[in-house]
This record gives sequence, structure tokens and C-alpha cells, in this order.
Amino acid sequence: MPLPSADTSVLYPTAGPGSLRAHAIVLHVQPHGDDRELVLLDRTPAHPVDRAWPDQGPDLGTISTDEAESPLLDVVVGATDGTSLFVGDEVPVRRGAEGWALVVAHVLQAPTRIAVGDDVVVSVDPARRHGLSVGHTLCHLASLALNAAFAARWSKPAREDALGRPDFDHEAIQSSTIVPNGSVDVFRLNKSLRRKGFGTDGLAESLAAATESVTAALRGWIATDAPVRIERDGDGLGDPRYWVCDLPAVARGPVAGPAASARIACGGTHVASLGELGTASVSLGLGEDDGTPTLTMRCTATARPA
Ligand SMILES: [Zn+2]
Repeated sequence: MPLPSADTSVLYPTAGPGSLRAHAIVLHVQPHGDDRELVLLDRTPAHPVDRAWPDQGPDLGTISTDEAESPLLDVVVGATDGTSLFVGDEVPVRRGAEGWALVVAHVLQAPTRIAVGDDVVVSVDPARRHGLSVGHTLCHLASLALNAAFAARWSKPAREDALGRPDFDHEAIQSSTIVPNGSVDVFRLNKSLRRKGFGTDGLAESLAAATESVTAALRGWIATDAPVRIERDGDGLGDPRYWVCDLPAVARGPVAGPAASARIACGGTHVASLGELGTASVSLGLGEDDGTPTLTMRCTATARPA
């Protein structure tokens, strides 16, 4: 069975009925391990986990034909050069590699009785998707709010974030995990961060104030119900995508600043407007990972239904 030469078209980035359920044509089926099969489609509403940066996990759902319905056991980013298909950790190339197609690999229990050319329906669990979209939008807002809360700690010019503040999140992030209605970010406070100009003096004593500042910023932004949109260069899985939110002016506090359009490179799913987050809460805690001091930021939202 030939492998596809073009990226899978992805339907999940933009809101709309096709982002949760869509018809698709089967392009390729192959065995995967002892008891699973990989199914590639021309297009899909199912968000795959990208093992290179696994912040948002896979959608759950089903693929159905006229005869049968198979649950999605996993949905992962794969890549093919036309000869071989690599999935998950085995993908040997980065996005945009010449001669490679990035594909969404749907992992199903074997035997699927799904064949090349079949017209199938992919359905995504809407509750899980919404929870992850809430968590992911919250995560981006929280990173901007945390950067603002820590802006005065920088003694050297640093890379700027989407709102023009020193980008602590980018410089220090170790892992980011989107959970239903929340996110957990772990930051490394190591020597290289300090050499770049980030000061950690008195950080423990200032965490309560930083938590308050991040919380206030989140709640202020959410109260405006500003729309969120995804901009993309194309509908292929490998085409760059951006989370864009026109954040209103904030008059007071550490996050004060003029209205600004925040644009962050992101392959995940998001809510359509900030009001869907409901009420946000934040906690910041210091820790240690193998001798390196860390900061963990946990965010949760009560989530208002869309
Ligand atoms: Zn993102």
C-alpha cells in the first residue's frame, strides 16, 4: 500500500462542526506491534500527540465504517518519506523536512477491517476536547502573566514574549502538560537561566505576590471574553499554526500594559473565547529535579461550557 506524499489535513485547529466529526478517506493501513493497526486518512478532526513536544495529549474517539466502529487507542504524529512510516518517538525528522510528509496516525485495535479507499467517519470525544482546549488556552495566558510577574527580575535584555516582556516561559520551560481544564508547567531555575540575567534572589518570599499577580491577570483577561483564533499557513499537519488573542489593555498591577495582539506558535486546540475558561486559579511552588531548582506552576479553570 503506498504511503501518502502529502501531510494529513487537520480539521481540529479551527472551531466548527468538522473540528469534532468528519468524513475521511483511508489512505494507508499497516500493522503496528502485535495487535494494533495504524490508519492514515486524507484528513482528520483528531488531534495527535507530538512526541517531540507532548504538551497536549491525543483526542479520544472512534473511527467508523458502515459495518463497524473502532475506538481510537491513540493518535500520534507520524512521518513518512514515501517508503517507511515512523510514528511517535521514532519520527526521525522535524516539521518542514524536505521530502517528508507529516501524518496523523490513528492507532486502532487489530484487526480493523478498514481498507484503503474506505470512506470513514472520525468522531472525537467533545468533553475531553473541550477540557484540553480550556487547559491549553489557560496555559498560554498563564505563561504571559508569569512573564509579566517576573519581568523585573531580568538584569539583561532577554528574548521578548508575545506582549513584549522578557520571555521567562521560553527560557526556562522544562515541561508543559495540558490536563482537562488546566495545565502544569515546570521551569528550570538553573545556572544558564541565571547567566542570561534572571535573578532568583528572594524568589521563595515573593511567590505569594507572584501568584496573586498571575491570578489577577488571568481573571482580568478572562472577564473580557476576548476571542481566540488560530492562524495557519495551510491546513497540513506540518504547516505552522499560531494561537492569536487580542488582549485588552490592563490598567494596573504588574501586568499593566496597552491592548496587544498576542501571537504564540502552537499546534494544539483552544477555546473560541476567553470567557469559556470560567474562573482561573494558580499555584506556584519551588522544588528540585536532580539537583536543579525548579518552579512549578499549576493552573486550573472552572470552565464554562461553550
Ligand atoms: Zn500551545
